[in-house]
Amino acid sequence: MDLAARTWTDVAASAPTLALLPVGSTEQHGPHAPLGTDHLAAAAVAETAAERYEEQADEAVVVAPTIPVGVSEEHRGFAGTLWVSEDTFRAYVAEVVESLAHHGVEDVVVVNGHGGNVAALREVCGRLTRDDVAYTLPFTWFDAVSSDLPMGHAGARETALLRHVVPELVREERVADARSEAADRWGEWVAGVNLAYDTDAFTENGVVGDPDAGDDSDGEALLSGAAGALCELLAAMDER
Ligand SMILES: [Zn+2]
Repeated sequence: MDLAARTWTDVAASAPTLALLPVGSTEQHGPHAPLGTDHLAAAAVAETAAERYEEQADEAVVVAPTIPVGVSEEHRGFAGTLWVSEDTFRAYVAEVVESLAHHGVEDVVVVNGHGGNVAALREVCGRLTRDDVAYTLPFTWFDAVSSDLPMGHAGARETALLRHVVPELVREERVADARSEAADRWGEWVAGVNLAYDTDAFTENGVVGDPDAGDDSDGEALLSGAAGALCELLAAMDER
C-alpha cells in the first residue's frame, strides 16, 4: 500500500505491521541517467516487492514515501548533486521509522538504492532494533540481486534497471559517449586505500563501468530478482 495515496481511514482499517521505506540519493549518474536514479530504483523495488508480498502472504505492506536525498557528498563535483550528512540522514530515517512504529508497524525494511548510505543505515537500523522501536533491517537492492552484470556507477546494472522502469529518463543518444569516456573502476587505490574522496578525481563524466552492457529485459530481471530477495527477507522477518 502506497502510503501517500491512501487515506488515514484506509490505514486504520488494514492496521499494517510491515513497512518498506525506500531511500536513495539525488546525485550525478553520468550524462545519460537522471540524478534521481538511486531513489527511483529503490522506490521501484519497494513497490514491486510490496505488491508481490501482499499477494503471496495476504498481508498489507506499507510503502512509505521515498527519502530522496542521501549521503552523496562524494559526487559534489558534478552539477545537481545534493547531499546530507550521515547524522542528518540517520536522524531522518530514525524519526520516520519511529512514526511508523507509533501506528503499530513492527517490522521495517529500509530499501536502499545508494552505496554511500549503507554504513549509516546499518548503524541506525541496528539502533532502532536494539531500542525496540521496530525490527528494522537495511536492504540494498544491487547487493541483494545476483546478476552477471557488474555494478559500477551509472553502469550496467543501474542503466538496465532504468531502461525497464523509466526508459523515458535514459538519454539513449548519449550512452555511446558515456560508455567510451567512463572509468573502469571505482576509486584510485594504493595499498588497499582509496586515495580519492570525491568521484570527479577518477571519473570525468561520472560513469564507472559500461552503461550499455544491459538492456530493458536485463532490467526487468534485476527488478524481479531484487523484489524476490526482498520478499524473502519480509517472510523471514514475519516469522521471527
Ligand atoms: Zn546509483
